[in-house]
Amino acid sequence: MRIPGLIDPHVHMREPGAVHKEDWSSGTAAALAGGFTQVLAMPNTNPPVVDAPSLAAALKLAARRARCDFGLYLGASRHNLPATEDLAGQCAGLKLYLDQTYGPLRLDDITVWKAHMQTWPKTRPLVVHAEGRTLAGAILLAALVDRPLHVAHVATREEILLIRVAKQRGLKITCEVTPHHLFLTAADLPGGQGEVRPRLASRADVDALWKHLDVIDCFATDHAPHTAAEKATHDPPPGFPGLETALPLLLSAVRAGRLTLDDVLNRMGPHVRRIFGIPAQPETWVEVNLEQRHTLTARGMHSKAGWTPFEGWSVYGLVRRVMLRGVTVYEDGQVLAQPGFGQQIAHGAER
Ligand SMILES: [Zn+2]
Repeated sequence: MRIPGLIDPHVHMREPGAVHKEDWSSGTAAALAGGFTQVLAMPNTNPPVVDAPSLAAALKLAARRARCDFGLYLGASRHNLPATEDLAGQCAGLKLYLDQTYGPLRLDDITVWKAHMQTWPKTRPLVVHAEGRTLAGAILLAALVDRPLHVAHVATREEILLIRVAKQRGLKITCEVTPHHLFLTAADLPGGQGEVRPRLASRADVDALWKHLDVIDCFATDHAPHTAAEKATHDPPPGFPGLETALPLLLSAVRAGRLTLDDVLNRMGPHVRRIFGIPAQPETWVEVNLEQRHTLTARGMHSKAGWTPFEGWSVYGLVRRVMLRGVTVYEDGQVLAQPGFGQQIAHGAER
């Protein structure tokens, strides 16, 4: 069947700074293979995207190498107030790292959180990495300054229950969940491979995410590739690749009766468009064979990560063909779009 091109509002392309893990060419090849035609990339590159020069450099790299359409987040730092406002029109959104993550962008001072929440235009997305009690603080501050807040990768029971209450109170909170937090517990992937932020949680946490799926606005992969060799070291970096496994995992859950096809497609399309102000793409669709059973394996995947936390999983739903703006960009395992075919998303079009 034909489905619309998917949007992933949370990926890490690792370029500039760590192109042995991923780059715009390989990362967007993985996106197309996974049925994604628009991706929003996080700013914790090296150097991080935090000001006009670093944003211009990152946009230039993306425009030269991306095979699907893209947007870039700006990172909030202690030093880039109030300059973020001037850059809002060129960015997918502002990202605030309030908890431990990969890279140097963590913000500890609550007065800085508040200043960013006040400075960044209320009409543009503001995304937080905030876990547990930090999330409670972020929601409070967003309420105090009366602005919308999008919560990245909700992972636990307490977080989803907190967001449920915030939404019930009418606060402008939206959230996303990753496939790995829906399909894996900490017990499934012990050791270095299982390192990810937020951490894989307990069975009770995973069950709570499924139970409160109505509170979850979007699915996002948080595609955060590191090589298999890096994941095998004593100090493994946190993060999983996810672009090439998300859709079949979710379609398999549809087949198992855990949610509907509309539940999946809305959270990978219209809901993301609404929250992030992303325009539709003309003549863009994905041909998926819902009946085709196959085994997930890193062999043949396009990401440079070279491994997947879902190795060996038997799934339903195979991406056969991807059409992007009237051009066949992927067909039966082959990425046909060249680097540079991807275009920057015109932000703020449909809010
Ligand atoms: Zn991330």
